Amino acid sequence: MSFDLKKLIRDNIRDLTPYSSARDEFSGEAKVFLDANENSLGSPLVKWYNRYPDPHQKDLKKAISKVKGITPEHIFLGNGSDECIDLLYRCFCEPRKDNVIICPPTYGMYEVSGNINDVEVRKAPLLERDFQLHIKQIEHLIDEQTKLIWICSPNNPTGNTMYRGDIETILNNFSGLVVIDEAYINFSRHKSFIQELPDYPNLVVMQTFSKAWGLAALRLGVLFGSAAIVQVLDKVKPPYNINQATQELAQQALDETGQVNDMIRELVSMRDALVKVLDTIPLVKKVYPSDANFLLVKIKDAKKVYDYLLSKGIVVRDRSNVRLCDDCLRITIGTEQEITLLVKALRDYSKK
Ligand SMILES: *Cc1c(COP(=O)(O)O)cnc(C)c1O
Repeated sequence: MSFDLKKLIRDNIRDLTPYSSARDEFSGEAKVFLDANENSLGSPLVKWYNRYPDPHQKDLKKAISKVKGITPEHIFLGNGSDECIDLLYRCFCEPRKDNVIICPPTYGMYEVSGNINDVEVRKAPLLERDFQLHIKQIEHLIDEQTKLIWICSPNNPTGNTMYRGDIETILNNFSGLVVIDEAYINFSRHKSFIQELPDYPNLVVMQTFSKAWGLAALRLGVLFGSAAIVQVLDKVKPPYNINQATQELAQQALDETGQVNDMIRELVSMRDALVKVLDTIPLVKKVYPSDANFLLVKIKDAKKVYDYLLSKGIVVRDRSNVRLCDDCLRITIGTEQEITLLVKALRDYSKK
């Protein structure tokens, strides 16, 4: 396998002169800022909110670097993982010419973002038996124009982690980018792929502050990759894609790893307890093994159960129309109280 990032980048992106923001155009110490047309008098909120945020997010990247053990030049930050997904398409996939591979059932944004960018999305469905990667099918779909392979692990909505050996096989044999979405990695028993970055120039790992970190509202996605890949994404991103409030609050959260780890442990133990309770409800046909903070549950008359739960004010995700997930609901691990309400509603429905 020969990997050549230069060949992977779209011509217009390779040749692009990026936008140069006001704060990028001077060097040295300054104390009077009359370069960015902000309101010099201040703001009705916090004093410094009148100023544009750091476009390079230096302090936040340093803080993430410390917690993750990855140096800042290997870190790219997006307005949620969803921005990272879109940017990967825009940097590496030529509309109407290139293609990508996804492994459904999986996170919906890979396909939607491909459609928005007018890039062909090829599908290698997961194996029915255990929701693992169908390596032969992936191999079969790869051609000269295949630029990205999206792998979600632990996978949404199935909850399982993909076999490490399978992912390594793809990394070793595919000359495009292998994107591993680790949105749920903190809930998993398995190791992240971020430590493998030095070994694979074609590896991209995405994580997010939206799940284990409990900060979905801040919109902060983290992408790890080679310095060269990060530089390409930096060129294309909107200059101020991570706002000041997010940069500050995420840094504060990174000082609270103890509290976050406590929540992760609690959610995992509630997940494992809920599996046992669900197994005692006759309506429930199967609870799939989960390395995430949700469970995929096969239920008799899933659509009707979904409607019943909704009538009780409980919203779960109906995945019953998704291929390989027929009659399945995806249930997020809630608080103790929320889980109690869910279990009671399921028992009541059984008695109807
Ligand atoms: C929730 C989720 C994300 C998070 O996306 P953000 O834009 O960072 O909130 C990413 N990938 C998967 C698979 C998810 O389920």
